[in-house]
Amino acid sequence: MLAATSKERTLGTVEHTAGGAILMDGKLVRDELIVQLAEQVAADGSPEVTLATVLVGDDKPSRVYVGSKRKKAVEAGLQSRHVELGADATQAEVQAAVAELAADDSVHGILVQLPLPDGLDAEAVLNLIPPEKDVDGLTERSMGRLVRGKPGHVPCTPLGVMRLLERYEIPTSGKKAVVIGRSTLVGLPQVLLLGRKGADATVTLAHSRTADLVSVCREADILVAAVGMARLITPDHVKPGAAVLDVGISRTEAGIVGDVDFDTVQEVAGAITPMPGGTGPMTIACLMQNTYAAYKMLNG
Ligand code: NAP
Repeated sequence: MLAATSKERTLGTVEHTAGGAILMDGKLVRDELIVQLAEQVAADGSPEVTLATVLVGDDKPSRVYVGSKRKKAVEAGLQSRHVELGADATQAEVQAAVAELAADDSVHGILVQLPLPDGLDAEAVLNLIPPEKDVDGLTERSMGRLVRGKPGHVPCTPLGVMRLLERYEIPTSGKKAVVIGRSTLVGLPQVLLLGRKGADATVTLAHSRTADLVSVCREADILVAAVGMARLITPDHVKPGAAVLDVGISRTEAGIVGDVDFDTVQEVAGAITPMPGGTGPMTIACLMQNTYAAYKMLNG
């Protein structure tokens, strides 16, 4: 049984699961980071920092995600601007909307909610976002900067995983990390972040062709699952005491389910994220941090 929800928890605390694992509580840490950011914005004289969100079509989860991002932006002391286009919007219309935000000096961060409706080319849309305003870190230029170790925006979900590890003081240097999933959205940048200087983990990248996934995962001190298969990760995959971070989201009749079988894995893991309430809220917190960093980049 988990303790109370994060709303009832005090910022700065550490909770454990019934099995004794540290609960890496994304809602709690998100709230801590949003409070810190709001304080920083106020201390800097409350400049007008604007995050623009672009929503195309009527995908329900996308609408919910954009709604939370707008709400948290305001809580962090940022301005939220929203552009919405119908499901029948053409490629040219979506590109024109993004190009306008790209050229607008009063906009500091641009987030295009993915996926776009079928038939639209997301790459062409994303590539209109200047690297400084690419607060989702998903464009080729931002990814290139990450690979080359240059300053730029890092994709929010893998960055959120790193923030959770920092917050709960999970050491990464010299540790073995396994990332399952190799998408440009999560898995690949996660590998780069865990392996880069400063984090210094030794990282293995697993995917659908990995032989004997159980043995590969059991080597990990830090296991990040970004697959999208409900309860793929069982106690067999987990080295006792490992930190297990669940990125996968599967929508089932029982609600949202992660890649990790939380109830059983929390008995073995040393630290674990819940799903929902783990990596998802952290994605939003990192988006806000990236937006403020974008403002600073654009204003020297
Ligand atoms: P994706 O592009 O579909 O990638 C999934 C990865 O999982 C692929 O690399 C795939 O391998 C691998 N995979 C599939 N089946 C596997 C298996 N049986 N064993 C090992 N690896 C397997 O998805 P994504 O965009 O990275 O997203 C991954 C999950 O994270 C999704 O559920 C998504 O909804 C969720 N997500 C969550 C957040 C959050 O904030 N928590 C944010 C973004 C995404 P191959 O490359 O070999 O096909």
